[in-house]
Amino acid sequence: MVIGWHRPTKIIIDKKAIIENVSNEIKRLPNDSELFAVVKANGYGHGAVETAKAAKIGGATGFCVALLDEAIELREAGIKEPILILSVVDSSYIELLIKYDLSITVATQEWLELASDYLKNMDEKVLLKVHIKVDTGMGRIGFLSKSATLQAIQTIKSEDHFIWEGLFTHFSTADESDDTYFQKQVQCFQEILDALEEKPRYIHVENSATALWHKQVTSNMIRFGIAMYGLNPSGDLLPSPYTLKSALTLVSKLIQIKELPVDSGIGYGKEYVTSGTEWIGTVPIGYADGWLRHMQGFEVLVDGEHCEIVGRICMDQCMIRLIKPVAVGTEVTLIGKNKKKEITMQMVAEQLGTIHYEVACTFSERIPREYR
Ligand code: PLP
Repeated sequence: MVIGWHRPTKIIIDKKAIIENVSNEIKRLPNDSELFAVVKANGYGHGAVETAKAAKIGGATGFCVALLDEAIELREAGIKEPILILSVVDSSYIELLIKYDLSITVATQEWLELASDYLKNMDEKVLLKVHIKVDTGMGRIGFLSKSATLQAIQTIKSEDHFIWEGLFTHFSTADESDDTYFQKQVQCFQEILDALEEKPRYIHVENSATALWHKQVTSNMIRFGIAMYGLNPSGDLLPSPYTLKSALTLVSKLIQIKELPVDSGIGYGKEYVTSGTEWIGTVPIGYADGWLRHMQGFEVLVDGEHCEIVGRICMDQCMIRLIKPVAVGTEVTLIGKNKKKEITMQMVAEQLGTIHYEVACTFSERIPREYR
């Protein structure tokens, strides 16, 4: 992937915000509890390695990713702490899991048996660190019943290739004000915990929403994702118990401005036509960067003023209606603060009819990330 280093569009990541969000959360945890920073999907678009390093400074003692390749990226960048892969990895990649000292999620008995056969056939004795995932109601991956979970635990304990490192579940409604379904999931997990004779090193159930708004279930590690980046998991629904500092700013610069007479068409399809003499500026960001076509009609900030995005968003550029003529090279803030005004990721998400998680992950890798 080519990165647009020679274009003024960039994402600025405030590492201090990540450090502060992580350390604020750690202050609320019981002493024996750890925080694993979730840095999958390139750190939710913020950059996995830099985010992981900032989270570590804030007190994170481990990391979670979704893909084997994401885990390898962290190891190759020198991250030494435990890394848990949260999704299923084909058992044929076990050698890589061991080579990179990774912990893997086990979601079915079939996988466990395949893994066991694979490990038995290896020339030297190796140990695979596993976390058992229980599906208490998310309907995604994991063991579906207490008996299936206990059978998996039995298999793991009876074979000396496995290190039983963790047991976990994931809640699907922790960011909602009605906690009825959440409590059902908690109860289902608690029944399994109550049936255990022995516990693994990590029991973990909390994503950001659970950590922020629910009292800890019997667990000793949290998987802290979106809130670490300074975004409220519920959007605007529930107030965060402490101020989350947004880490991401998206800026560009005007590459051309012009004064156009009335009836001038702007962009493909001439969807916008000037209604009088107007100052139109061009910003070098488009849908190929993840600044999607539905952003048409939304606003950006120039010199502390809201300016409407006019006409269709192009692949690499979009046009805005300026309040007043400004110099070429003037900064344009697409997400973040500009003088006294601010555009948040949540506002962009609302414009797109989605959640800020998706907005953050959608920014293309061709936008350079600058860390401050
Ligand atoms: N745990 C699991 C299993 C996840 O899939 C995710 C994210 O999708 C997280 C934790 C982190 O969630 P959040 O970003 O809401 O904190």
